[in-house]
Amino acid sequence: MESTAELSFRSRGLKITLFCVRLNALRKRIRKARALCVRRKVIPCGPSEYWELSAEGTHWDFYHPDLDDPTPQRVASIPMHEVSWVLGTGPARAEIESYGTKGALRWKIIRKLVQCQRCGIPYEAQWIPLRDAAGPMGIDCLCAGCWEELDENFRDVRPFSEGFRELEKQLRRAETLRAADQGRRANVRWLREFVSEGAYTDAEFAALCDYYGNVCLRCGRKEPLVADHVVPLSRRGQGDISNIQPLCKPCNSIKGNAATDYRPSRCGAQARSHALAAAG
Ligand SMILES: [Zn+2]
Ligand SMILES: [Zn+2]
Repeated sequence: MESTAELSFRSRGLKITLFCVRLNALRKRIRKARALCVRRKVIPCGPSEYWELSAEGTHWDFYHPDLDDPTPQRVASIPMHEVSWVLGTGPARAEIESYGTKGALRWKIIRKLVQCQRCGIPYEAQWIPLRDAAGPMGIDCLCAGCWEELDENFRDVRPFSEGFRELEKQLRRAETLRAADQGRRANVRWLREFVSEGAYTDAEFAALCDYYGNVCLRCGRKEPLVADHVVPLSRRGQGDISNIQPLCKPCNSIKGNAATDYRPSRCGAQARSHALAAAG
């Protein structure tokens, strides 16, 4: 069996390559991860986000803080068999666990190359605590050369250069944090769709829309309809048709994370069985 491996992937457009050696000794299982690969998609953690192995060890759960609630909430639970590898947390044990037919293999990272966000050239990266990192997965985003060049630009104001450099760092950090925030929201959306995928069929949704006259249940307009989870998946709502209502896109975004049921209560259950019967 191979004893070394090279793992390359992109995170927010930047190429990351991890050089690993396999650990022979039995190590403790990784229980918290800073990145996870599910169906070839890498979902890295941003500040206050983390992946955690479920107590039974059957799922990896993704925790993400909401705007109105800074405590990270579980937004998705990915079954083990969908996960190809995880990257552990903490600078002390930035190790990888990969899963396959041979079971879990454990790897130690001996070298990390990350593409610099400014010049695009790969550089040797260090882990820094997630909360301080502007780059993905607790990696800073610029190579040493770029940091230096930023400093050079302020040569004429050398006495203040440390201050300027600090300011530039902060500005760049704010900028990358904003970009990272968009990336994180997209990842959360992707995960929510991933876990709800297959929970109801297109036919079931079409039948449900038909039953309600193909109008938005909130505003009553005949707009293109989207499937809204009455109780959001982030609040552990069901993924199946019993938790779906047709809304137009604007109403769907107005509803947001609330658990508002716009379905007429009298016929709700009927509609759902109707949808199931039509689909079946
Ligand atoms: Zn650079
Ligand atoms: Zn509407």
